[in-house]
Amino acid sequence: MKFPKEKKMYCKKCHKHTKHKLKEFKAGKGRTLAQGNVRHEKNTNHGYGGRYKYIATVKKQNKTPVFVAECVDCNAKQPYTLEKRMKKVTQE
Ligand SMILES: [Zn+2]
Repeated sequence: MKFPKEKKMYCKKCHKHTKHKLKEFKAGKGRTLAQGNVRHEKNTNHGYGGRYKYIATVKKQNKTPVFVAECVDCNAKQPYTLEKRMKKVTQE
């Protein structure tokens, strides 16, 4: 699907519709010492191949695209998702 790089959206900070730049969202690195990670490792690396959570054998092939919308006026950022799974999103 083709998607524009700019879009007019409501900005919570400006309280009006302004131009927003859309960039693809990329997740940052997870913290190794976060409570959830510590618990997960404690449970998984225990004994002979211990596994405590269900792991899906068939993975979904597509992802829902997530963008970061940045207001041109005040640089406030907010997430913007297309609510459908698709293979490819090209911005032009
Ligand atoms: Zn704004």
